[in-house]
Amino acid sequence: MALKETTITKTTKNLINKYDFKTMKRFGQNFLVDESVLRAIIDCSELSKDDCVLEIGPGLGVMTQMLCERAGRVLAVEIDRELIPILKVSMFGYDNFKLINEDILKLNLKTILEENFGSFPVKVVANLPYYITTPIIMKLIEEDINLESITIMVQKEVGERICADPGGKDYGALTVAVQYRCISEKIMTVPPESFMPKPGVESMILRLVFRENPPVVLKDERMYFRVVKASFGQRRKTLLNALTAGNMGKAKEELRRMLLSIGIDGNRRAETLSLEEFARIANEFVQ
Ligand code: SAM
Repeated sequence: MALKETTITKTTKNLINKYDFKTMKRFGQNFLVDESVLRAIIDCSELSKDDCVLEIGPGLGVMTQMLCERAGRVLAVEIDRELIPILKVSMFGYDNFKLINEDILKLNLKTILEENFGSFPVKVVANLPYYITTPIIMKLIEEDINLESITIMVQKEVGERICADPGGKDYGALTVAVQYRCISEKIMTVPPESFMPKPGVESMILRLVFRENPPVVLKDERMYFRVVKASFGQRRKTLLNALTAGNMGKAKEELRRMLLSIGIDGNRRAETLSLEEFARIANEFVQ
């Protein structure tokens, strides 16, 4: 399916030609050139002039301009030095925009967001670089930062994993971690033709809204994330074997007894456990 030539496609092509920009595969540079998809991301982000936005990977700045028109303030983090002069031109005149040339994974987000937005909650909007989708999402949900929602373009397969129900092949550590913090919604599937250059996979717009109250009661959130990672660390193993191999500080027999005492069969596999059961295990480790 060929993409209809729109203003956005032309703008992106013109910027690439004008600056003789070579897209970098290692930075996951697949620019979004489908106007209807861009509008869908912006619309479902539900932005108003009261909102503070963090954009990860602004690229050439096409979506960034739309964000600046809708939101109060926009902070964008871009790793690629070559894009900085281009962004300075495309974002000229937007006085609610600030750019940081950094690797998002290396930033102390809590400090940066507080410096720029004070105590205001932040909405993340991004067409994510696919080579680091999971570490970025984990950073956003694990760190102690004041986020309200995350609207992102991800590989379709990652979107399916995040929204999965227990028992299926897609249900994993990412599902259990994200669903603890957020209510997730699949917005739409996006074909490779909507990007330039085309990625090798289908994509999906995903919306995650941070919960006001957690769905399960935890004594220590860090322990919950640790238990989840250890349980899924050895996917084909039983829960008991995965926890034993996961350096949780208890020997196998002790773990077997602990699981039995809270009504969980150690022979089950992690993908069959609900959030509530992971919470029960994590709380038992804190005893
Ligand atoms: N926002 C643009 C768009 O929608 O067309 C570009 C999206 S492109 C899929 C991903 C962007 O993330 C690129 O601009 C890339 O250079 C940037 N990027 C890649 N790794 C990054 C990192 N670790 N930190 C910050 N930005 C990164």
